[in-house]
Amino acid sequence: MKVDTVIVGAGTAGLSALREVRRYTDDFVLVNDGHWGTTCAAVGCMPSKTLIEAANACHRRHDFDEFGIRGAEAVRADIPAVLARVRKMRDGFVKGPEAVPEKLGERAISGRARLLGPGRLDVNGDQIEARAIILAPGSRPVLPGPWRAFGDRILTTDSLFEQVDLPRRIAVIGMGAIGVEIAQALARLGLDVAGFDAVAGLAGIDDNEVLAAFRPLIEAEIALHLGGPAELEDVGGAIRVTGAGGSFEADAVLAAVGRQPNIDDLGLDTLGVPLDDKGMPEIDPATLRVGDLPIFLIGDANGYRPLLHEAADEGHIAGRMAAPGATGTGLCRRTALSIVFSSPQVARVGPPLSELGATQIVSGSADFSKQARARIARTAAGVLRIHAERETGRLLAAEMCVPAAEHLAHLMSLAIEARMTVADMLAMPFYHPVLEEGLRGALRDVAKGVASAGGSDLSDCKAIGHDALD
Ligand SMILES: Cc1cc2nc3c(=O)[nH]c(=O)nc-3n(C[C@H](O)[C@H](O)[C@H](O)COP(=O)(O)OP(=O)(O)OC[C@H]3O[C@@H](n4cnc5c(N)ncnc54)[C@H](O)[C@@H]3O)c2cc1C
Repeated sequence: MKVDTVIVGAGTAGLSALREVRRYTDDFVLVNDGHWGTTCAAVGCMPSKTLIEAANACHRRHDFDEFGIRGAEAVRADIPAVLARVRKMRDGFVKGPEAVPEKLGERAISGRARLLGPGRLDVNGDQIEARAIILAPGSRPVLPGPWRAFGDRILTTDSLFEQVDLPRRIAVIGMGAIGVEIAQALARLGLDVAGFDAVAGLAGIDDNEVLAAFRPLIEAEIALHLGGPAELEDVGGAIRVTGAGGSFEADAVLAAVGRQPNIDDLGLDTLGVPLDDKGMPEIDPATLRVGDLPIFLIGDANGYRPLLHEAADEGHIAGRMAAPGATGTGLCRRTALSIVFSSPQVARVGPPLSELGATQIVSGSADFSKQARARIARTAAGVLRIHAERETGRLLAAEMCVPAAEHLAHLMSLAIEARMTVADMLAMPFYHPVLEEGLRGALRDVAKGVASAGGSDLSDCKAIGHDALD
């Protein structure tokens, strides 16, 4: 078979690339191995957030008495019913991508693609030749080999949501974003949960002040064993997990030790470009191009920013760069934004603090344990930190573990993307009583260290340039 463009992988990145490819040709094929539902909809973002929502609703029972609502002791999670709802919602989310093969007809091929060289692929034993190839094969959970001996008592996010019920004691190994989200959710549903990690971090937090605020909040709900590798041992039906500072007997273990790009059997070694020790070629985030070939590696598979909105952007970029005669040095990437759906939520906007270079920046913070609106809701906890250029006050980055961080982080990313200064942002209206007032507190704290920020939150009328104010 000879086609203009081949897309490998029908996940978020591949489907986003498809939209762009269709602008320049109908002569394409989309090859996908396994389920057509996408990782996000089938086993990722969507089922995990559905589980977390149920868990947070159940956890609310601990606040009832304080609110004057009685009867909380009778509230409990019916785990099979919770999981059934997760699957029901999931079945709805996967409907769109599952319909793709039918819509594309012969241009959709179910099978595993492997490169045979630049412009050539093997799919199900057939050869496909293509002018351009977009590789979007995603990633899969890492499962250390020896743990497989524990059989179906070892869960990953690929199998967790398929469970009809869950045992009482669950160890979660890996306290990154996914591990923290799921561990806390399971604990909030009433299970006995312990979290383990080889490093003393949580949820990918970079800023030590944010980590110091977050750790006790998580530790209040989950036993944490951080800073030493976890060892597993079969002890008469249970799995004893031993890690830093102690052990935990579990009925099941969720392995959340990371995800590995699906590039090991992709044939990248046939392309004649340098590969690192993990078999990964160097990829320019603006073009996603492999070397100077008309081949693109996108989404989770390139390990650059393994998040849904980034996978979609990378599909868009690759689809454009793959067009015949496409020129230019690529498309500009957005401000980095990541959110962990724990309670409180964790979010980072812009580069991590450790990459900012402490000398030219000024930082400000807000303690959300005293935030008035959050106290009303009994969610007051955590800290929000903002970093700006010392000289100009231009906002650079923020990291936080606070209630509604998902929204505050979007506000911060809007400001950073628009190259706003701390003074620009303080000139915005802040309603009362809202969580955003906490954000304003951090901005005012930053402003203290910025010479050009001025003494007032309000802009000078002339500086705004508004006729009515002249
Ligand atoms: C539990 C969990 C929670 C998450 N939560 C969030 C979140 O809240 N927010 C967020 O932004 N991100 C989240 N993510 C990450 C997000 O889901 C991924 O970044 C995104 O789905 C990656 O999309 P993709 O297109 O790169 O890969 P995928 O959607 O995995 O698509 C890759 C496709 O390629 C196929 N394939 C693989 N190899 C081949 C081959 N050789 N030939 C043909 N086909 C192949 C695969 O079978 C798959 O269908 C979460 C992930 C998980 C696991």
